[in-house]
Amino acid sequence: MSAGPRGLSQSENYPRLIAVPQSKCRFCAAPLRETFVDLGMSPLCESYLTADQLGSPEPFYPLQVKVCGSCWLVQLDQFVSPAEIFSEYAYFSSYSTSWVKHAEDYAEAMIPRLGLDQRSFVVELASNDGYLLQWFVKRGIPSLGIEPAANVASAAEQKGVPTLVRFFDEKLGASLAEGRQADLIVGNNVLAQVPDLNSFVAGIRNLLKPSGTATLEFPHLQRLVEGNQFDTIYHEHFSYFSLLSVETIFAAHGLTVFDVEELWTHGGSIRIFARHDGDGSRPPTDRLLALRQRERDLGYDRMETYRAFDQRVRATKRRLLDLLIRAKDEGKRVVGYGAPGKGNTLLNFCGIRSDLLEFTVDKNPYKQGRFLPGTHIAIHSPEKIDEARPDYILVLPWNFKDEILTQLAHARSWGAKFVVPIPEATVLS
Ligand SMILES: [Zn+2]
Repeated sequence: MSAGPRGLSQSENYPRLIAVPQSKCRFCAAPLRETFVDLGMSPLCESYLTADQLGSPEPFYPLQVKVCGSCWLVQLDQFVSPAEIFSEYAYFSSYSTSWVKHAEDYAEAMIPRLGLDQRSFVVELASNDGYLLQWFVKRGIPSLGIEPAANVASAAEQKGVPTLVRFFDEKLGASLAEGRQADLIVGNNVLAQVPDLNSFVAGIRNLLKPSGTATLEFPHLQRLVEGNQFDTIYHEHFSYFSLLSVETIFAAHGLTVFDVEELWTHGGSIRIFARHDGDGSRPPTDRLLALRQRERDLGYDRMETYRAFDQRVRATKRRLLDLLIRAKDEGKRVVGYGAPGKGNTLLNFCGIRSDLLEFTVDKNPYKQGRFLPGTHIAIHSPEKIDEARPDYILVLPWNFKDEILTQLAHARSWGAKFVVPIPEATVLS
């Protein structure tokens, strides 16, 4: 039996599903009536197929994102159990050198800022393979990772990062706090994937020392909207946050967001800093007040702002299809570069199959020889591009566009042109 990315077992075909579309907000339980964007029916974006699975039925689930008119949380119905997604996670954070550097810079900044030393305690939620906590451990600062995927947790242990193989929630936060409360709690790219937000944030409150700090990073809704990054929406990401919505959620659990940083990661993220209510020594910073005001000015507390997004996404689809159809009518060869999860959302929503995109390539050996879910486009190794000498190359991981254009610079020698799908389908000059 071979386990696919995120533990989607290939021999059992598909993960167990908990298809309970919720009509209520995941945070405040208000009825969800408004659609933010409807991406139609889509397969799970990480369930890459082997050749012998191509003839079997494949489950598709609604990818319809709603917005709560009470708390402005943008959210997706939950169709897949987190246990299925995370019990054996194929993504090791340490594979990405830029992400490890990001973590090192974070540790270097936080240690002096919070005065962390051998008497402190740092906890990371969804600590993956220890890519971040290793920098605290190296400085002799007691640390604990909490990570539900046993395989990545064991990689962390090998780095000397103590790791508990569990899902984090309110109860676990309370029981850990009986032993020791945390000076710093870190959560990077985990909040979007938490099905029970209230239990998770209550767990942070329970575990955090009265004088402690929690920092969480997640993609920023403003960047998703402005960059038209609808392809970053997956079934595995249940929530999409503005500063306004996350402040409301933290406040409901006795936590105050007092500072925020804007980051380049994942198409544009924010890192929030939270503390217990009533800690007057840390008032809201100017940059927090500024971002809160900017979101209000941009209308993230008004339904019209959210309603406008769906139409823009549909226009983007038509433009990309128009470009690909014209290329095919002219007899051009079009291939893809990359097989990221976001590519699967894009291709399924746009209905792009191998008649429009011959094949794609990816550096990850696990994906080579497999097929994209839903669209069944073949994935080859990058050398295939040199053989095929296509006229157009559609860059699916647009967030690495510059790196990919450099790697494929030689393709210009046979006249290949590069296309990015968003914010608008564009042939790069
Ligand atoms: Zn709500």
